[in-house]
Amino acid sequence: MPTSIITVRRVSELRALVAGWRRADETIGLVPTMGALHDGHLALIRQAQADCRRCIATLFVNPTQFGANEDLAAYPRDEAADRTKLAALGVDALFAPTVDEMYAPDASTTVIVAGLTEHLCGPFRPGHFAGVATVVAKLLLQSLPDAAYFGEKDFQQLQVIRRLARDLDIPVRIVGVPTVRDADGLALSSRNAYLSADERKAASTLPRTLSSIAERLARSPSDVAAQIDWGRAQLAAAGFGKIDYVEVCDVETLQPVNEVSGPARVFGAAWLGRTRLIDNAPVQR
Ligand code: AMP
Repeated sequence: MPTSIITVRRVSELRALVAGWRRADETIGLVPTMGALHDGHLALIRQAQADCRRCIATLFVNPTQFGANEDLAAYPRDEAADRTKLAALGVDALFAPTVDEMYAPDASTTVIVAGLTEHLCGPFRPGHFAGVATVVAKLLLQSLPDAAYFGEKDFQQLQVIRRLARDLDIPVRIVGVPTVRDADGLALSSRNAYLSADERKAASTLPRTLSSIAERLARSPSDVAAQIDWGRAQLAAAGFGKIDYVEVCDVETLQPVNEVSGPARVFGAAWLGRTRLIDNAPVQR
């Protein structure tokens, strides 16, 4: 089992590495992460390795996607542990740039994906998706892989990235990977580490509620408003504090729907103490 991994910190080194693989006609998969790796990240890596000859993981806690009152300083960081996990999986390289390497002091270009960011997390995290879209566009252009892998857990983010790659003609296939969950259904997340024991017990109410709503809407597609009310009540009863949203949206436009008539998902974001959890569930019809 490999115990070390090539780590590059500069865009020029990343490009040289990729150029060498390209010369050998090798395909390349990219897995962007903010580190604190868990089995959800590892599922993205396994998919990339199944599809591509080479796999690059990136580790960058991107400051521009955190709001002023968010957890940038507290975000869990353990690059050495992440490197060990990536090496054990046989990942070919880790790209772990510094903030200075990623952003010139006078950087003045931002990628804004309109429409898709109007609802769900958009209004609750001003500037977040602009930060994500900009850094992901940069990572894609820096490495120009064949494919890049993102989790369906962050479904709005996945759709934003698909859209920016299409709109900016970035020639990279964007691949969505199903959410990896704990035994009780809670989606794995680096932020789950913030939960107290009691909060962790309550947390599985979020996925349970969203999938119950999805099942009911599969049977009663026009029941959206009543199901949202029911879902909010379930979360409140389980001890969730602020409920940012429970919404049912079209999967392509991410606009809320009052009735399920095409492909749709149920989305939720709510707080347990100081931790914000998000999740989503497809309506199977
Ligand atoms: P993060 O490090 O949280 O920015 O996540 C990096 C990538 O891993 C994103 O594409 C996430 O959507 C994905 N991801 C995070 N949690 C999970 C999960 N539980 N299952 C699948 N993918 C995930």
